[in-house]
Amino acid sequence: MSSSTSNIQYYDAEVNPPCLCRIPTLAKKRISWTDDNPDRRFWNCRHSMKTRRDCGFFDWLDPELNEHYKLTLLRLRREADGEALAEARNKLASAEALIAKLKLKLGDVKEKATALKMEYEAMSVRAKVLGISFVSVVVMNGVMVMMKYGV
Ligand SMILES: [Zn+2]
Repeated sequence: MSSSTSNIQYYDAEVNPPCLCRIPTLAKKRISWTDDNPDRRFWNCRHSMKTRRDCGFFDWLDPELNEHYKLTLLRLRREADGEALAEARNKLASAEALIAKLKLKLGDVKEKATALKMEYEAMSVRAKVLGISFVSVVVMNGVMVMMKYGV
């Protein structure tokens, strides 16, 4: 349908042919996934993505498939994409469940931290009160001793 059938050269897949660039470079092997040429390998200029440097070299590596195989490959590709999507969704759901679990644990830790802070503050107040009491007891004792011995 869309392949060039008149001038196809079949290459050894391991040997990159040279393209038509002024400075000799080897063509790059790529794979087509268009509806007309699913999973069909081709060579083109290594610079084909940079339009200014592209020498325009292009040639198919594989022969064109008949319609049955084209449709089969396209269907398999769609199924594989669907499976990959389902797998990604499962991973996302697991990650979200883990996040929810961690948020619950974080809530528990925050609650414990708040309780510990309140307990610490209460103990600080008690320590201050006790400290003042201790100092006053010492002072009172000192005063009593001074009074007893008339210092
Ligand atoms: Zn080139």
